[in-house]
Amino acid sequence: MSNTVRVRFAPSPTGPFHIGGARSALFNYLEAKHTGGTFVVRIEDTDQKRSTRESEENIKEALRWLGINWDEGIDVGGPDGPYRQMERLDIYKKYTDKLLAEGKAYYCFCTPEELEAEKEAQLAKGETPVYSGKCSHLSPEQVQQYLKEGRPYVIRVKTPKNETLEFDDLVRGHVAFDSNKVGDFVIVKSDGIPVYNYCVVMDDALMHITHVIRAEEHLSNTPRQLVLYKALGFPVPTFAHVSLILGKDKKKMSKRHGATSVQQYRDLGYLPQAIDNFLALLGWTPDSDQEIFSMEELCQQFSLDRVAKNPAVFDIEKLNWINFHYMKELDEDQLLEICLPHLQKAGYASDQPSHDERTWLKQMCSAMREHVQYGAQIVDAAKVFFTEDYQPENEETAAVLKEETAPAVLKMFRDELEALDEVTAETVQPLFKKIQKGLKVKGKFVYMPIRVAVTGVMHGPDLNVIVALMGRDKVISRLNASGLIAD
Ligand code: GLU
Repeated sequence: MSNTVRVRFAPSPTGPFHIGGARSALFNYLEAKHTGGTFVVRIEDTDQKRSTRESEENIKEALRWLGINWDEGIDVGGPDGPYRQMERLDIYKKYTDKLLAEGKAYYCFCTPEELEAEKEAQLAKGETPVYSGKCSHLSPEQVQQYLKEGRPYVIRVKTPKNETLEFDDLVRGHVAFDSNKVGDFVIVKSDGIPVYNYCVVMDDALMHITHVIRAEEHLSNTPRQLVLYKALGFPVPTFAHVSLILGKDKKKMSKRHGATSVQQYRDLGYLPQAIDNFLALLGWTPDSDQEIFSMEELCQQFSLDRVAKNPAVFDIEKLNWINFHYMKELDEDQLLEICLPHLQKAGYASDQPSHDERTWLKQMCSAMREHVQYGAQIVDAAKVFFTEDYQPENEETAAVLKEETAPAVLKMFRDELEALDEVTAETVQPLFKKIQKGLKVKGKFVYMPIRVAVTGVMHGPDLNVIVALMGRDKVISRLNASGLIAD
């Protein structure tokens, strides 16, 4: 085997695809791309109660959406398949038989009640509960007898006593565990399905994985896996346990902090390139103060030795800022594509917009883009065109309409608008100057009352653009509804 890097992402398809999982996938992908290595995706579905194909599909779709494509693995194939653990049971069985034959693993017939009593007794003595190893002392004859009787059993691996299980983690440094606290643990459950800690070792070894990059929550699994690497005679890969993602309150990121799954961010109208950029910075520190990275740049610059040991804090404002950056790069069509589902959901756009409606929606989204950090925010920005709730938003805004010159300004604007052959951003623009000159008032006293009377707010895109988008009739009706125009 050459010594090129081989990494993997091995999700359990048991629910929504968490952004933490996406970050692990991304780090593995970047490490592979940076080193010219291979990125493998494997599905760990041995938890049959919780695993679903639907979740697997979601994960794969989210990875593809993020542009995290894999070289070998599920769906794409490769030399070390199959890549779904439940399809590898015969492979695992061969290794279990070998471990049993070599006396490195044994059948355990202890009942749940016996195990519980043992655990209680250890806890009462203030000890870490570990299996006593009782069934490792059964004679081969007893084992055969129990098997013949059809007694339920699990299979345990023998963990060496009084050893330090240690390794050098690329992120966490030297890590050591006391083997006595690990004990002889279950590798095959009573239903015959091997457990995660066991499958992961066989798979990583058989898929020639050189670097295991995964979340810190798996750190406590690693001593068990070290025991199994040794028992199976496989070389131990290099580990890199990436720190947890915390919310701004420094507590582990959870639903309380807002959206936690990739799908939720996608549904809110975030862009995949922004999510990748943001996730890369959750733990990895570039060697400059650059904050915007394309996937190509990430692939070039990413390195595990710049992955921080301290927890990463999920800062939604930063994500929004990054997303806004990428939104600005979208052309009109792409922008509409991101915004359209949100406009449709709000009832602001038809399910099948006509050509004219599309053109209008495109212009509207472009006019509003400064106010849209991610797709869903278009709804708030577009509201002014669709609701009649445009009264001055606060006292300061209302005061604009109380200016002495406001009634005359609104009236002249209405009359000029009525007189136009066609209302476009270009034909509306000169009207403001004309009113300034005609009424001898400063620009501010022209723009502000018109803006407030028409939109209810003091800020927004260029007024001529708003007026053109809103259309003559609606603008005139709002000017009239201000109650400031005498006739
Ligand atoms: N299947 C595990 C999970 O989804 C990943 C285990 C690993 O990366 O070793 O959490």
